[in-house]
Order: sequence, then C-alpha cells, then structure tokens
Amino acid sequence: MPQSMSAALPIGSEMITSKHTVQFYESDAFLVDAAGTYIGKGLRNGEAGIVLATKSHQAGIEERMRQDGLDIASARVRGQYITLDAADALATFMVDGSPDPKRFTEVFGNIIREASQRRSAVRIFGELVTLLCAVGNPSAAIRLEELWNRLGKSLDFSLFCTYPMRGFDGEVFEEDFRAICMQHSHVLPAESYSALTSQGERLLAITQLQQKANSLEFEIAMRKQAEYEHYRLAAIVESSNDAIVSKTLDGIITSWNQAAEVLFGYSEQEVIGKPITIIIPPDLQSEEKEIISKLRQGIRIQHFETVRLRKDGTSVDVSLSISPIKDGMGNIIGAAKIARDITERKELERRKDEFIGIASHELKTPVTVLKGFAQVLQRRFQSRDDPESLRFLTRMNTQLDKLTRLINELLDISKIQNGRLVYRMEKFDLLMLAQEIIENVQAALRSHHILLETATEAEVCIYGDRDRIGQVIMNLLTNAIKYSRGAERVIVRIMFDGELASLSVQDFGIGIDEAYHEKIFERFYQVTEPAEQTYPGLGIGLYFSREIIQRHQGRLCVQSRKGEGSTFTFSLPLASE
Ligand code: ADP
Repeated sequence: MPQSMSAALPIGSEMITSKHTVQFYESDAFLVDAAGTYIGKGLRNGEAGIVLATKSHQAGIEERMRQDGLDIASARVRGQYITLDAADALATFMVDGSPDPKRFTEVFGNIIREASQRRSAVRIFGELVTLLCAVGNPSAAIRLEELWNRLGKSLDFSLFCTYPMRGFDGEVFEEDFRAICMQHSHVLPAESYSALTSQGERLLAITQLQQKANSLEFEIAMRKQAEYEHYRLAAIVESSNDAIVSKTLDGIITSWNQAAEVLFGYSEQEVIGKPITIIIPPDLQSEEKEIISKLRQGIRIQHFETVRLRKDGTSVDVSLSISPIKDGMGNIIGAAKIARDITERKELERRKDEFIGIASHELKTPVTVLKGFAQVLQRRFQSRDDPESLRFLTRMNTQLDKLTRLINELLDISKIQNGRLVYRMEKFDLLMLAQEIIENVQAALRSHHILLETATEAEVCIYGDRDRIGQVIMNLLTNAIKYSRGAERVIVRIMFDGELASLSVQDFGIGIDEAYHEKIFERFYQVTEPAEQTYPGLGIGLYFSREIIQRHQGRLCVQSRKGEGSTFTFSLPLASE
C-alpha cells in the first residue's frame, strides 16, 4: 500500500506541498539551490532522497546540502541518498526517442521501492525531462511526465521537476509548455516572480506580464501578417515570367528569382553577393553608374531597352524597369529590377525594318521611272492644246512627288536603323533656312497663317546638315498644320543664347495628352483615341526628327496639353567661330 506522503518545503518563498511539482527557473544557481533545499529537507526528516541530474548539478546540489550541515556521504552509505546521472538514467528506458513504459516502470519502480524501505517518504529531484527538451524532444518529456504520474498511483513519492524558462522561448513551444504544466499538480514560476515577497509586488508583476503578453500577441499577429505579405510577394516574384533581381546601391546582387536563372543562365547561389556588372556587356558598363545615380535621386527607370550578357557569353535584348527600394525611414537602400526578354520583339522589329528597307528600295526605281515619264509627257502636253490631259498629268506628278517623299522617308528610316544615314555637315544660317521653308509652305497653304517671330535679324549660325535640319522644320510645320484644322495660325519662333539656338513651332490644335509625350517620338507611333479623328501619316516624322537633332548634339521636345495645342522645340549648339 502506498504511504500517504506530503512534502512541505520552502523554495524561495514557495512551499512545495504537492506530489508532482514543476519549478521553472532562469539561472542554474537557482535550480541548484531549489533542488538542494528540497532534497536536504527530506534527508533531515529521515526521508529518502533520489537525485536524477547531470553530474555538475549533482555536485552543486550536494554542496548546497553540505552547507546546510548534512552528512551526504553517510546518507549515501545508509542508502538514504541515491544519485543517478540523468543521461544514464534515460538510457535505461528510452527506445527510439520515446520512453518505454514497461522499462521505465521496472527501473524506477525498483529504485523507489528499495528507497522507501525503512523510510517515511521518498523525494525525487529529476531533470530527465529537461534533457529531453534540450535535445528538441518535448513530446518525449510530456510522455515521461505521464509515466511518472502513472507510477505515482501505485507508489508513494514526491517528484520535483525543473525546466529552464529559456527552453520555451518562441511561440512554437506554447502548446508543449501548457501540456507540461498540465502534467503537474503544482506549478512554480521562475525565480524572478517567486523572489517577489509582497502580494502587492506580485499583483503588479502579473499585471505587467499580462500587458506584455497582450502586446506580444499583437506583435505576433502583425508579424504573421507581414510574413504572409512577404510569402505572397515572394510567391509572385518566384512565379513571374520576368527576371526580378534586387541589388544594393553598390550594385551587389541580393536576390535573384527563377526567371532570372532562366534568362541569364546563372543560378541564385552563383550570383548572390556578386556585382550586377557580371551581366552587363563591357561596352555598356557605364549604364550601371547612370542607373545608380538616378536611383539615388529616387527616380524610377521605366522600359529601358538595352542588352545584357548571359553566363554563356551570349547577349540578350532586355527591357528594364528599375525602382528604388526604401527602408522604413524612407532611405534608399537598394534597387529592384525587372528584366523582360525582348529578343523575339526585337527580331520581329528587325524583320519589319528589313522588309520596309527592301520594299522601299524596290519601289524607288519604278516610281523614279514613272516620274521621269510623267515629266516628259507633261512637257509634251504643254505645247498641245489639251488642258484637261495636262491637268491630269500635273496631278499625277504631284501624287508621284508624295510617293517619292514617302519612299525616301522609309529609306531614311532603314538607314537610321543600320547607322547608314549620312550627314553632310556645313555652316548655315538657321533663320534663313526657316524663312525659306515657311515661304514654300505658305505659298501652297490657304488654311493657316505661318508667323515667324525672332529677336534677331542677324545670322543664327549652325554647323550641321542643312537639308536634314530643313526636313525636321518641315515635319514640325506639317504636323502643326495637320493637327490644327480650323486654327488660323502657326507660330515659328527662333531664339538663341550664348551657346544654343532653338526653334519652336507652336500650333493651336488638338494637343497631346501628357501620357503620350515620349511615345510620339517612337517609330510608327501615332496617338489613336476612340473619339479621335484619323489623320494620314505613318508615325515616323517625329522619330526621324529626334534622331536627326540628337545626331547634331541637340534636343527635341514637346510641350502640350490635350485640347490646348502643342509646341515642339528643338535646340542645337551654335557653330563656334
Ligand atoms: P505622323 O505621320 O502620324 O504625323 P509623327 O511621327 O510626325 O507621325 O507624329 C507622331 C504622332 O504624334 C502623330 O500621329 C500625332 O498623333 C502626334 N502629333 C505629332 N505632332 C502633333 C501636333 N502638332 N499636334 C497633335 N498631335 C501631334
């Protein structure tokens, strides 16, 4: 029959009166003190004491009891004090990481029965469960606690377990912690709580802990939300068909998604920590400096078309969109780059250009021949009295001129594409050129009045290709007239300062929405909006004009708002003496 036993022992200010007590602790010193006090008190009362602890804890517990004046050696000889190394004790009943109930009952049943002979009670201090938790096996610890409880039903003993509080840091241990507490008839909080002596201090501590628990729960919820966002974004990045890469402001790669691996041929492990310049061709290395300088100013880069290098040394056409990455304080700390493979599109464009080049080249000869014959006929009919045929021939000639101009423009475009457009550079007066063109256009124009405003009568001397710059002025004038039906004026202004001359063409027509201000300079781009009237054209005039102006180290830009007319301005460096 089990003896009815109850141990009463002060630990800190706590009294252990229960059969199965758990004490949480923060420091080893406290653990040794608590266990030493618990076992020492039993020995002094003539009870048996069993210590299942690590070697160093055993030594500490015995030292503590010696200080209390107990003769440990004699108690051991009398069989009143029994010690077992915790790891050795575990080895006697653990099978495949779990306590075997039969072996456990056998081993400890015998030890306890032996110890309880001639003793009024048995006290056990054990840290077997602590070891199991320390090796990351809390479920075995819980199972072992159950076995102790079961053993306690047939044998009478008091068991004192200890767990380090730090072993339960982290939300994942919440369940285990609760389950361990549930296995004990008495739970003692760690020393920072039990050291508080007055009721007031304890209430205050509990209130503070409640507040802390609430704010931690809130923090955890926020963190989970942030984690969810993080994983959601990570999943989007990983599944994206575009390469997504991030880097520091020093150009060091910090992330590299699956599509980047496919596009550039480098695995994530190969490139993380490496400079982004490994995928930039040698002749384009300066791009990186420009990109970083823009990012530092917080400027986003959109659809920048360029070329990058693959691991195997081949190049790939890409369109880059790069945005600055900011920290919580708003400081720019890096950049996220999306690279889209535009090889196919480039190839299509190349084929289209090739087709346009060939087609216009093939058209040029027959049209020139036609034009020649039409002119001959026109001359012949001038001497004959057949005004109607002459009128038809004149109209034929005008249409052939239009066709020739169109073919020439298309040929020029393909020359630009191939870098074969030749510029004949000379010094010329921009003012005089503008006057000539305005006179020619005005001569055949009834609908608009072209006004020339200039602050000077003197020469505005430019070094460049006079015909090509003339083509630009002509394009701008033609557009101004074409897109301002019903308006009466177009104003051409010529200005210059110490270094630059500029020419602007202002109309009072349909205007251009800001969203299209850059697009209209792209090849074959025309603004088409559902309600918009259609205008004839190919969408190459502005592309061609900007190309020419840029080749002269100048700039061509637009100021316009929808419905309020447009002003196109180019500026060119003045010719030096
Ligand atoms: P297009 O032959 O179509 O005129 P451009 O390259 O000269 O080709 O112009 C491109 C597009 O820009 C035009 O289709 C038109 O939508 C717009 N655009 C050009 N100039 C003007 C202007 N003065 N006013 C309004 N829209 C203009």
